[in-house]
Amino acid sequence: MNAPFPPILPTYNRSDLRFARGEGCWLIEEDGRRYLDLTSGIGVNALGHAHPDLVETLTEQAQALWHVSNLYRIPAQERLAELLVEHTFADTAFFTNSGTEAAELAIKMVRKYWHDQGTPRETILSFEGAFHGRSTGAIAAAGSEKMTKGFGPLMPGFKTLPWGDHDALRAALDESVAAVMIEPVQGEGGIRPLPEQCLKGLRDLCDATGALLILDEVQCGMGRTGRLFAHEWAGIAPDIMLVAKGIGGGFPLGAVLATARAAACMSAGTHGSTYGGNPLACAVGAKVVEIMTAPGFLDQVSRRAGQLRQGLESLVATHPETFEAVRGTGLMLGLKCRKTNTDLVKAAQSEHLLTVPAADNVVRLLPPLTISEDEITEALARLDRAASKL
Ligand SMILES: *Cc1c(COP(=O)(O)O)cnc(C)c1O
Repeated sequence: MNAPFPPILPTYNRSDLRFARGEGCWLIEEDGRRYLDLTSGIGVNALGHAHPDLVETLTEQAQALWHVSNLYRIPAQERLAELLVEHTFADTAFFTNSGTEAAELAIKMVRKYWHDQGTPRETILSFEGAFHGRSTGAIAAAGSEKMTKGFGPLMPGFKTLPWGDHDALRAALDESVAAVMIEPVQGEGGIRPLPEQCLKGLRDLCDATGALLILDEVQCGMGRTGRLFAHEWAGIAPDIMLVAKGIGGGFPLGAVLATARAAACMSAGTHGSTYGGNPLACAVGAKVVEIMTAPGFLDQVSRRAGQLRQGLESLVATHPETFEAVRGTGLMLGLKCRKTNTDLVKAAQSEHLLTVPAADNVVRLLPPLTISEDEITEALARLDRAASKL
């Protein structure tokens, strides 16, 4: 007897946990069991679960208007775009429903930019360990065997370089390159931050060759590193930036932010989306940006980040047979493991603590940015017990 094919396409390795509710940093099962959430839905619930201001904003918008086409003006979308332009390098924003869709538009924008220059350039450089989503364009950009195997022929026009190899980058980045696409902190790739010096050097190389710089801040952006966007630490700005995950606080929302120079090629009719920039998503997104840019919010993120990092350094020192090092920045931290990362994730789950595995044998910690001092202390105690069990 063949087992029936699962009604949900079996592309995920799911745990058996089923949550019925969320409150701040906690996820709660039907029977009331509470789990401390250091995943934030993989960086999505940046303000925790059921943040009262977001619930109120979403409810109010739901009572007024859910969806209206981009045939018409959408005040919530205009408000969110103005906030993003005010608080970032960008002159303009396009709204999507996901990070993948933002990556697709960034690729299209780069191609159109060079088309309109009259001197077409085709190659977009990207990096090993990168993650830009699961569309045909995004997997071609990341180039990893894991994501591309069986899905060929891959979209042409991408070249993947080794991570952290300056010579390879210098050799590849010449006047044939259309753009460089990179995460300032690799998330799926194992919480690997690009040193500030390298990001500055990359900006200089792009300026010297004319290549556009695309930063993918889908995971590391929206306050995660203690600045609104991670590249701000390096004092540089991209030409194009991808945003998603945290910006919707749990409502599906993404954006491409760009300078006027990079974006000028995208005239009416060149791109669009049915749902992108939807009133519900944009009302919530604008509230998220307002909360994150209010005085003191990001300072608090940095304080909590310092506390968590210090605690993790002690944990590594206490369990040298389990952990090799702490990685990352802000509240985007990783434990590089000596034992198998997924075993630690399971052991933590049995302590009612939720974490996410990443590549390179890393366990990722992406708590809500609103996590309290006591919750961090509690998370560290649970991680310590989990590590002792391995
Ligand atoms: C999650 C992620 C994406 C893809 O976003 P989706 O919303 O899943 O499409 C792209 N880039 C990075 C860096 C991500 O972490």
